Order: sequence, then structure tokens, then C-alpha cells
Amino acid sequence: MIQKPKGTYDVFDIQGKKIQYLEKLFACLMEKYNYEYMRTPLFESSELFHRGVGDSTDIVTKETYDFIDRGNRNMTLRPEGTAGIVRSFIENKMYGRASSPVKCWYTGPMYRYERPQSGRYREFYQMGVEVFGSPDPIMDAEIISIPVQFFRLLGLKGIKVHLNSLGDQESRKNYKKALLEYFEPHIETLCEDCKNRYQKNPLRILDCKIDKDKDVLRNAPKLKDYLNEESKKHYEAVKKYLEALQIPYIEDPNLVRGLDYYTHTVFEVEANVEGFGSQNVLCGGGRYDGLVETLGGPKTPGVGFALGMERLLTALEYEKIDIIKNQEIDIYVIPLEETIKPYALEITTSLRMNGFITDIDMMNRNIKSNFKQADRLQTKYVILIGSEETKTKTLTIKNNQTKQEYKIKEEQLIQFFDQNIEEDIHETI
Ligand code: AMP
Repeated sequence: MIQKPKGTYDVFDIQGKKIQYLEKLFACLMEKYNYEYMRTPLFESSELFHRGVGDSTDIVTKETYDFIDRGNRNMTLRPEGTAGIVRSFIENKMYGRASSPVKCWYTGPMYRYERPQSGRYREFYQMGVEVFGSPDPIMDAEIISIPVQFFRLLGLKGIKVHLNSLGDQESRKNYKKALLEYFEPHIETLCEDCKNRYQKNPLRILDCKIDKDKDVLRNAPKLKDYLNEESKKHYEAVKKYLEALQIPYIEDPNLVRGLDYYTHTVFEVEANVEGFGSQNVLCGGGRYDGLVETLGGPKTPGVGFALGMERLLTALEYEKIDIIKNQEIDIYVIPLEETIKPYALEITTSLRMNGFITDIDMMNRNIKSNFKQADRLQTKYVILIGSEETKTKTLTIKNNQTKQEYKIKEEQLIQFFDQNIEEDIHETI
């Protein structure tokens, strides 16, 4: 039997409902924040990710799904969402819009050739946000607030925000120089990857999983000592806004994040899931003021985040938060004879078009097993349609909980259900 590729998974049953709920809730939240939906291709030219995500990152050096297409072009399945959105921002000249900042959100699958384990897949789904045009720290704070509010709406309690500043380009340059000087006499003690990072981007050494406990890393110069006045001011302002929003944060000087493009604010939002290890990071993001320029656009500040759908689902399970509280349907239609089926289907469609979750027997069940099916579907009401009902256009409706019966004229059907079926939160999203 052919099996799914390693590191991927199928969605079905209750999991499908949960994912749809999360996506709807996120879309709804983004509407309230006044962000527009964007979609970019699943594959892009490989060069975009080399230039955008960075040549020194694990994502680009070890984890991309690269292929050569039939026209001999180097292509890559997107490992993250930001580079594609920035490419689109430049290509579609969105920087020319008068209504700056451009605020957008996206959702979709990402691909990384990682070692699969719990919370780490090769195809995984992210929901993310990017904003272009505002250099103001209030923008950083809004970006951090979005996943926090989203997680709060869902009822997650063990949420922690980790925060750091990587400073502006000048601060980064000075820090890089200090790191190069510091690591030079120790270069032979570092792992092979770090020797490479020393050449390409010494900041990445601090993020090394192999060397991280060595004294040479622990004693390395700290970035916060190299922030210039401008960068310090920006960082302080972000913290003030977070305090105003009552979002507690933990300052984490070792947080550098896996992507090369960040400047100033970087952050991660963690769930408190025991035994989840580094997989408890639900969301990461930050400011990337140089990225639009690096990818060939005009100098434009940017800030964004991405959150992982799979880890969010695990965190919800861990905190025992049941987002799909009821799975019930509104109405189940039972045609009592073969000849009634066209009329029954017409009634079913009309109910659906009027906003009721409606199903109809498609298995020619007898009446007894149809009532069993109605219970399995946890329907609120059952409609029985036989030849008498078809003739008189008066339908028999049964409340499936109280078993009370009603005879309702076809033209009063919608009004009857409008009065008797309350909309719940799932339908209002
Ligand atoms: P990143 O794009 O690496 O900053 O990741 C942002 C978020 O995406 C992380 O916090 C995770 O929730 C999720 N994520 C990243 N890589 C994976 C993966 N391989 N499998 C599942 N989720 C992932």
C-alpha cells in the first residue's frame, strides 16, 4: 500500500473541524484588526529564499525542498511565508499605496526537510501576518498582540512572550565585528557548521544546537551591549506598548531566531506544554527593516510573525480546551418514500440556503435506523416527509430532544426554525 510521505499527515474527522475553526477565528480576528488576506505561490524561485531567508540559515542550507522544473529553473517549495509576501509586495508595487502601512495576513502549508518528531513536520501549516511601511515601535507591539489575543480568545493560559532586540543595521554591524574578533582565536573549537557561520553570519553561532553549552559561547559578547541609542529607544518603546496592552514578556538576550532577516524586535510566544521541549514555541516573528531592499524593492520597514497550526492544536489539547464543543446539526430530513426524495431534497436545500445546518438521508434507511442516524448526528430537529405531507405541503417536525411534534406549513418552515434554533458562536464566526 502506498503511504503518506514521512513528516506529513492527513486531516479528517474532528481534526478537520478544529482546523477550520482555528482558520475561521483567525480570519475573523484579522478582519477586526483591518488586515487584508494575501496568497502567494507554494513554490518560488530558489534564489528568493537564498536572498530572503538567508544563506547561513539551517532552513536554506539543509531543509529546503529544491527541484529543477521542466524548463530547467531552480525552484523551491516555500519553507516560510515572509519571502514570498515580500516578493509579491515588491512585484505588485504595493509600496506605492497611499494607505500605508500595508497590513496583510496569510495561511497555508510550508515545507522543510526536517527530522520529523512530535510538533515538527515536513509539511506544516502556518498562519502569519506581515506589515510594511511603519517603522514605529507601536507596530511591533500590535504584531506581538495579535497571536497573544488569538491565544487568549481560544482560552490558552500557559502563554509566555519572549522578547529581544537585535538592534538596527548599525548595531548589528558593530556586534558582528565584536563577535568576529572574539571567536577568531576559538574557531577550531567550534563545530563544522559554526566554522561556516563564522564566515557567513557569526550571529548564527549563538543559535548553534551543538556548541550552545560551550564556555566559548556562554562568554561571547552580548548584543544588548552593542545597541546604539536609536535601537535602545525603539526597544524601550515596544516594551512600554506591551505594558499598556497588559502583555507580560520575558526578556531573552539569547533569542536570535532562525532567520537572517530580523532587525530590532524579535519575539516568540511559547505554550506551557510539559515534555514538549523546543516544540513549545507556537509562534515567532519580528521586525525586518532591510528585507524589502535586499529583495530589490525600495527601502521599506517590515514586521511580522508566523504561528504553527499543529503546535497550537497540541497546546489546546494539552490544556484540555475543547474548541469544538458541539458537533450537532440543526435539521435532519427523512423522506419516507422513494417518490418523495425530489421534494425532500428541495426542502433540504432551501433550509441550507437559509442558514441551517441540514442533512438528508442518502442511504435509503428505514425509519428506525434513520432516527438512530439522527441521534448520531445529534440533530436538533427531524423533518419527516411522506406522501400526505407532500400533498398538503404541511410538514411533520420533531424536536429530537423533547420528541415534541409540530405540523408546520411549508411557507412557515423557515420562520419556525428561525424562532426555535439559536445561532451559536460557531455560526457567528
Ligand atoms: P519559523 O518560521 O521557524 O519562525 O516558525 C514559526 C512557527 O511555525 C513555529 O513557532 C512553529 O509553531 C511552526 N513551525 C516551524 N517549523 C515547523 C515544523 N517543522 N513543524 C511544525 N511546525 C513548525
